[in-house]
Amino acid sequence: MSTATSVSHLMNNYARWPIHLVKGQGNKVWDDQGKEYLDFTSGIAVTSLGHVPPAVAKRLHEQVDTLWHCSNLYHIPLQEQVAAILADVSGLDAAFFCNSGAEANEAAIKIARRYAQKVKGTNRCEIITFEQSFHGRTLATLTATGQAKVKDGFAPLPDGFKTVPYNDMQALRAAVSDQTCAIMLELVQGEGGVHPADEAWVKEIRQLCDQHDLVMIVDEIQTGIGRTGTWFAYQQYGIKPDVISLAKGLGSGFPVGAIVAQQKVAEAFSAGSHGSTFGGTPLAMSAALATLETIRDGQYFDKVKELSQYLIGSLQALQTQYPEKIRKIRGKGLLLGVELNTEVADILAYMRAQGVLLLSAGPQVIRFLPSFITTPAEIDHVMHVLQQALESE
Ligand SMILES: *Cc1c(COP(=O)(O)O)cnc(C)c1O
Repeated sequence: MSTATSVSHLMNNYARWPIHLVKGQGNKVWDDQGKEYLDFTSGIAVTSLGHVPPAVAKRLHEQVDTLWHCSNLYHIPLQEQVAAILADVSGLDAAFFCNSGAEANEAAIKIARRYAQKVKGTNRCEIITFEQSFHGRTLATLTATGQAKVKDGFAPLPDGFKTVPYNDMQALRAAVSDQTCAIMLELVQGEGGVHPADEAWVKEIRQLCDQHDLVMIVDEIQTGIGRTGTWFAYQQYGIKPDVISLAKGLGSGFPVGAIVAQQKVAEAFSAGSHGSTFGGTPLAMSAALATLETIRDGQYFDKVKELSQYLIGSLQALQTQYPEKIRKIRGKGLLLGVELNTEVADILAYMRAQGVLLLSAGPQVIRFLPSFITTPAEIDHVMHVLQQALESE
C-alpha cells in the first residue's frame, strides 16, 4: 500500500511537501518511489555532515549494543566527554543536556531567572528578545519568539518577556529595566528571514549585560556547531555570551540539545533545580561525541567558508542576471538567504519537482542550508535549477 494514498492518522500541524522520504545518504535523499533529491536543507540545519555520516553511524551502532539509557541518577562518562569538548571549543565552562532546541532555550531562560533570583538575590525575571526571532514552540519559548504566528491560539502566555526591534540599540536600552534579567538573541535569525546581527550592536549588548549583570543568552541552535564557519557564530563577533543554546547540528540528526554557560551562571542550577529524564543519554551522547570529533578533526570550517564564498559568488552572478527578481543575498557560512521580490513557494515547488530541496525563511526568502560535505558541482547544479525556476516565473 502506498503511503501517498492511505488515510493519515497524523495531526495536521505541518504543511508538508508532497514527498515521502525513506532513505538518505550524504547529500541525497530518496522517496518511496525511488526518486532522488539533492538536499540543500539538511533537515533544517541538522544533518550538517550529510545523511547517515559514517563516523556517527558507526558510533551509534556500537552504542546500541552497549547502553542506551540509564537516567541522570548516575554519572554518564559520555556526557563528561561531550561537555569537555563543548567547553573547550566554546570557552564556556559547563553544559546541561536535553533533547531539543526548545528545551535548550527553556533551560537558558530558567537558568537566567534562577541566577537573578537565587545567586544574586533579586526579584528580576524579565527576558528581552527580538522581533522576527525564533526560539521554539514550548509556551515559554514561543512567548520569547518575536513572531505573532507561533503564538496564535495559545493564550494565556507566560509573563516576563519583552520583544524589541532587532539591530536597534536605542529600543533595547529603553526596554532594559530593574526587572530585566537577560537578553536573548540569535546572531543570524534563521527562521525569521536570515538576518545577521550588526557587530557593533552585539558588542553593545555585551557591554549592557556587563553593566547591569544581565545574562546574555545567544541562541546558537541553528547557527552553532560550525554552520556559520566557526564553532559558534559569536566567535565572529568578538564577544563571549554567558549562555548558549544548542541543538540542531549537535547530533547529526539524533535528537540532542544543550546549554553551555559561564561558571558564575552555571552555578544557578544546583542539584534538583532542573532536569530531564532523557537528557544526555549514552545513545544521544555517542551521536554528539562522534559529530563533534568529526567536525573538530576534519577541517570543516575551511570547507564551510570556501563553500559559502562559492555559493555567495554564484548567487551574486544570478542576481546580476536577474536584478529585478533577486533583491538581497545575506547570511553567514552555510546559512544563507536570498530575498526575492516575489513569494518563493512556487519556485521551491518547481525545484522540488526537479529533485532539489531548499527551504524558505518567511514568504519571500529562499534559505540555503547545505551540508558541510557539499561539492561546488552540487552548488552549480542547484544554481542551474534555480535559474530555470526564475525563468519559469
Ligand atoms: C529550530 C530552532 C529552535 C527550536 O528547536 P526545536 O528543536 O525545534 O525545538 C530554537 N531556536 C532556533 C534559533 C532554531 O533555529
